[in-house]
Amino acid sequence: MDCIFCKIANGDIPSKKVYEDEMILAFHDISPMAPVHVLVIPKVHIENVDAVTEENSKYISHIFEKIPAIAKVAGAENGYRVITNCGENGCQSVMHLHFHILGGVKLPEKMA
Ligand code: AMP
Ligand code: ZN
Repeated sequence: MDCIFCKIANGDIPSKKVYEDEMILAFHDISPMAPVHVLVIPKVHIENVDAVTEENSKYISHIFEKIPAIAKVAGAENGYRVITNCGENGCQSVMHLHFHILGGVKLPEKMA
């Protein structure tokens, strides 16, 4: 499968890693939209929120267990925003589930 985030998870494409364990990887977004912009992905291919199931939801809970420490080590002080885009109207551009952690600045109140 030609999935850029599977390749990053496998180490076939380099990334600036923030955190890694056996289930998930966190790395700096290549085109940051805030001083802190980290992406957190499951190492298995899950397309997006629509593809979450009882079988794979352990990856999502694990991601959320780790997000506070990932945000802290990435330098997001005083809070941050967690976003996941899903499908066409959600403007998802990479079809491998990822959570954006945005912070390091007071973010705009409006999200859309
Ligand atoms: P989305 O629009 O939610 O699908 O977000 C995809 C994100 O992946 C964008 O913020 C891109 O800047 C980011 N991205 C794409 N390719 C890479 C890459 N090779 N390394 C790091 N981030 C990437
Ligand atoms: Zn993938």
